[in-house]
Amino acid sequence: MQVMGAANNIHDDTADHYTGPMHDILRIALPVPLPQLFDYLPPRDCQARPGCCVRVPFGRGHQTGIVIECSNDSMLPTGRLKRVEALLYAEPLLDAELMASLAWAVNYWLGTPGEVFTGALPATLRNGRPLPETGIEAWASTASGGTARIAGRRRGASQALLQQLAQGMRTAHVLDAELPGWRDAARRLAKAGLIERHTLTATTLPRVPVAGPPLNPEQQRAVATLTADMHGYHAFLLEGVTGSGKTEVYLAAMAQALAHGRQVLMLVPEISLTPQSGQRLRERLGVDVEVLHSGLADGERARAWLRARSGEARVILGTRSAIFTPLPRAGLIVVDEEHDTSYKQQDGFRYHARDLAVVRARALGVPLVLGSATPSLESLANVEAGRYTRLVLPTRASARPAPPVQVIDTRAQPLRHGLSADVITAIATTLARDEQVLVFRNRRGYAPVLTCHACGWHAQCPRCDKPMTLHAGRQRLVCHHCDREQRVPAACPDCSHGPLHPQGYGTERLEEALRARFPEVPVLRIDSETTRRRNALEQTLGRLDDGHAAILIGTQILAKGHDLAHLTLVVITSLDEGLYSVDFRASERLAQQIVQVAGRAGRAHKPGRVLLQTHHPDHPFLCHLLTAGYASVTTKLLDERRLLQLPPCASQALLRAEAGRCELVGAFLAAAHAALPDNPDLRILGPMPAPMPLRAGHHRGQLLLESDRRKPLHGMLKPWRDRLLSLPSARKVRWSIDVDPVDLY
Ligand code: ADP
Ligand code: ZN
Ligand code: ZN
Repeated sequence: MQVMGAANNIHDDTADHYTGPMHDILRIALPVPLPQLFDYLPPRDCQARPGCCVRVPFGRGHQTGIVIECSNDSMLPTGRLKRVEALLYAEPLLDAELMASLAWAVNYWLGTPGEVFTGALPATLRNGRPLPETGIEAWASTASGGTARIAGRRRGASQALLQQLAQGMRTAHVLDAELPGWRDAARRLAKAGLIERHTLTATTLPRVPVAGPPLNPEQQRAVATLTADMHGYHAFLLEGVTGSGKTEVYLAAMAQALAHGRQVLMLVPEISLTPQSGQRLRERLGVDVEVLHSGLADGERARAWLRARSGEARVILGTRSAIFTPLPRAGLIVVDEEHDTSYKQQDGFRYHARDLAVVRARALGVPLVLGSATPSLESLANVEAGRYTRLVLPTRASARPAPPVQVIDTRAQPLRHGLSADVITAIATTLARDEQVLVFRNRRGYAPVLTCHACGWHAQCPRCDKPMTLHAGRQRLVCHHCDREQRVPAACPDCSHGPLHPQGYGTERLEEALRARFPEVPVLRIDSETTRRRNALEQTLGRLDDGHAAILIGTQILAKGHDLAHLTLVVITSLDEGLYSVDFRASERLAQQIVQVAGRAGRAHKPGRVLLQTHHPDHPFLCHLLTAGYASVTTKLLDERRLLQLPPCASQALLRAEAGRCELVGAFLAAAHAALPDNPDLRILGPMPAPMPLRAGHHRGQLLLESDRRKPLHGMLKPWRDRLLSLPSARKVRWSIDVDPVDLY
């Protein structure tokens, strides 16, 4: 396996004098920010194969790395090579498929092998600690635990946990999903001898799959096509309108894979969605489900990862980074909400989990399902090119059609709290019917601007040149670009005249206004501020389960496929920025957002209604979307991209650079430009300032490369990157190359 060209070993002080045969030199990926592998002599008394984890001397200390390949030559004389100190685990931790897929990823997204290969391991294993036990943690009550429950002596979480366990043993996974914060109670009760911990293996777990609804004919057709051949690679795009029951289709295909004794990997975009969907999978499939997300403790993550590696874990559910899970017995990969941009990592190693899922499914020889109500243009182009098979669920499972979007022209009417009179009336009538309302506002905080009416001053982030958002609860001004915070001044810093006025409405201010206007119903807010705590999103959404009148205010976090059964009115306050953005993807994103948010309405038995406030009711794009629908809009957008030679009808790579001084950025980008090969297939845009030329006090610039065909662009990227690494001007800036960037910021 060829990963990186240059290989060396940068230290030569205490070299081991090597006399053995030339073929055992190990090329090792080390977690250092350099693009090469490092050559070492093998350990003395054991064999280190590719995929093995080893400890090596490095500089003055040690590093843990992964053996990538065995080779018979080195650029360094063998006399200067150092020897691997220890093989950390006898067996390779990364299997051949994962090694090959990671190598592909390093190559494609220009990662450094160290960050990618060692980053694929859970931290505990990377540190060379002993492999943890991989049993599944479960809890049960003891005899005295049953009595304590009957006596009702315990309160709150403890009582709830005793009650749960009185019904039978529960795995930690189930408790995570059903009783947030149960661990403290478990510790107390175990100490009191009321409950005890058990360790199970996957085979000793009780299996009682709960039956789902009978599939409708469209779902049946999709499942039949998906499962026609479960023994080879095939990519499917499952395009189902919101509420069409895509999950039921995934579940049926998963059940098939499990019946063949295979593993299933499912990716979801949002961390907060995992406990809920994990529980749904567990109940419906009757197997344990590993939930991988960034909130896991190191030990838990390592156990889950090892259970996946041994094939014991049957279903693995996780966010972006779960795509690095070993799947020795893979049977199916599912990527839900495949259009979601959170699948693209935006810093460090800039990979795309959906695209890597395609690579892995092919390498593993298993079917892949990409699902969405609003597929990305990338996936639609792949359908057109015959690479993916399209499966369509055209109607809602509930037989209630998705409600049409009604446009509210905000030019004509004065807005109160950013809401028109029609919208307020609609909210009032919905609440009066004891139904629930969602108000979608894509701005968190209290007000996006704080101004002085006397002199025109407004609070501006000095490090970004952008207005700072007022957060009233925290009494802070916050820059949403660099997270800088400062106190709210009591009076205008410029003219010291009277009070300052908030302008515009963020979610926090809408919440305040709607609370004042509708004091009799619960008003809940969901944005990144209110959901920072684990399980907070679920708990808030749980308050809507009773189905009684309530108002939910939220940002795009709510557009991510939540099934909120009782919402009957959705209000989209304004998305007008998306109509006039310079980003060529803005229209696609806008259409996705409108369709996804609108799709939250009327999902159960009662009909829904969607109101969209806009200053531009006649905008051709909006009219096209609302009259002809998402599929028609994307056909047109794809034609435009083809005409303008933009992705997915062309390939892009973006070189970004930033530094404290503008000249440094300019000098580096000019040198990078000069280092480009003379290639007629390449279109070069820039060097130019980034769309946000100043952020967090850094001046930012970029150079965009485009080509109609992927090959010529990708062929030149790695040599170019290596040339950039040796430029003196590169050392004075922070730079990165983003392959297939999803935004140009
Ligand atoms: P999607 O992910 O496509 O938006 P979901 O899978 O969340 O939709 O399903 C929407 C709702 O419809 C869920 O409440 C689900 O239980 C229900 N549902 C799905 N399929 C069926 C079916 N065949 N019959 C009845 N209800 C169904
Ligand atoms: Zn002033
Ligand atoms: Zn800032």
